[in-house]
Amino acid sequence: MSRPDVVVVGAGLAGLSAARDLEAGGAHVTVLEARPRVGGRVEQVELDDGRRVQLGGEVVGNAHTSYLGLVAELGLTLTASYVAEPGEVTRQVPEAVDVGEWPSWCTEADRASAEKVEAALATVVRGIDPDDPWSSPDLERLDRTSVGDWMREVDASPAVMRLAEMFQLSMSDGSIERTSMFAHARQLRAGGSTGSYDYEQWENLRVAEGSASVALTMAAGLRDVRLSTPVDRISVGATGSVVTTTAGETLRADAVVLAVPAGPARDLDIDGVSEERLRSLRRQRHAWAAKFVVAYDRSFWRDRGQNGLAESEGVLGSTWPQQEGVLSALVPPERYAAFAAADTETRTREALAQVAGLYGAEATSPQQTWTRLWGTDPWTQGYVTQWRPGDVTEVGPLHGTHEPPFYVCGSDQWVAGYMEGAVRTGRAAAAAALGGG
Ligand SMILES: Cc1cc2nc3c(=O)[nH]c(=O)nc-3n(C[C@H](O)[C@H](O)[C@H](O)COP(=O)(O)OP(=O)(O)OC[C@H]3O[C@@H](n4cnc5c(N)ncnc54)[C@H](O)[C@@H]3O)c2cc1C
Repeated sequence: MSRPDVVVVGAGLAGLSAARDLEAGGAHVTVLEARPRVGGRVEQVELDDGRRVQLGGEVVGNAHTSYLGLVAELGLTLTASYVAEPGEVTRQVPEAVDVGEWPSWCTEADRASAEKVEAALATVVRGIDPDDPWSSPDLERLDRTSVGDWMREVDASPAVMRLAEMFQLSMSDGSIERTSMFAHARQLRAGGSTGSYDYEQWENLRVAEGSASVALTMAAGLRDVRLSTPVDRISVGATGSVVTTTAGETLRADAVVLAVPAGPARDLDIDGVSEERLRSLRRQRHAWAAKFVVAYDRSFWRDRGQNGLAESEGVLGSTWPQQEGVLSALVPPERYAAFAAADTETRTREALAQVAGLYGAEATSPQQTWTRLWGTDPWTQGYVTQWRPGDVTEVGPLHGTHEPPFYVCGSDQWVAGYMEGAVRTGRAAAAAALGGG
């Protein structure tokens, strides 16, 4: 039995950020990772021409201060994301494909309705303290209310509701009818907005070397990262904890940092921590999504004045340009089954036909395509954290907190998921463990 000071379970951005700070603080750290690679939900492949294609997390924004700070420390470079791409957004519904800010099915009255909804949203968002959401007087009522019900309460027109649903699914969040209004507003507040989703705050930057390079660079600097080593049991004790791998190896440690997503965390056998904590951890859930990526030799959508950003009611809920000639697309949870149920060839053909509907026939002749079914990947079981009506209250204030010597981190432990959540909570877990708190 080896005896590191700290065992970190999971080598995604959270686990690696925690391990890096723990080592810098003088701890002897072992990271155990189930997959044969590090990075978790950030993953990249390299094309012969040198383009690094991202199959997982990709873009960040101005509000992502922990992630941006880490990138600077690692000596990596930030560059503008698709948000700076010239051209116009596209919206695709069964009856129309519209290029421009407003689709043809929105009237002047709908625009006025959207403005009223925006003003009402700003009031809700301002009422939430992102550092202490539990003190919000309206927490329980707003958490029980779906975004859809809240929009009906403020008289959103049917077209404005349809736009909101398209946007929500374009991000691969759950339907507005199945998302907690409190969680929705809390996420916006945590992202530094006082109104609806702000692209500059959330998505205007990306790492030029490829977002998975953040994970790879951190891992290269760590002393002991063990790949293909899934953990299936954690036994926490005040005088030493024991982590057992699926292969039966045991590691005794002074502290354990759990850095795996909500689904895989539920599969672990954990003892020695309170029932309330386990209930809270296991009550979290993910939106399931797939990512479809397609590489061309050039960004041909620009020829038509389109910026490659699309929201759609098709199986692909969105597309956006990842870099020159590369389009990313997400399959949202509400459409995941229809996508995952097909064989690879059919799935790819149908996805390309949808892209052709957006950007023209050239879309059907790619250099290469990739599909990652993150929702049914056993080591992710999802995509990002999702809060259905009632979930915030059920998970409760133990969310993202520690029970020393058991520490938790991961994007799920922040209000809004994302790479920022992974880095922020990873570094916070390390600071807490080093401080003994
Ligand atoms: C398709 C897609 C697109 C995304 N786009 C963006 C984006 O553009 N911007 C953004 O900010 N975020 C995005 N995200 C979210 C972001 O990638 C994640 O929130 C973040 O990378 C999660 O990091 P993490 O360390 O918390 O978890 P993970 O990256 O999931 O890492 C957890 C690690 O734990 C390992 N593990 C699981 N179970 C065990 C076990 N039993 N034993 C040992 N190891 C285990 C896993 O293999 C994994 O390596 C996207 C995610 C996906 C899937």
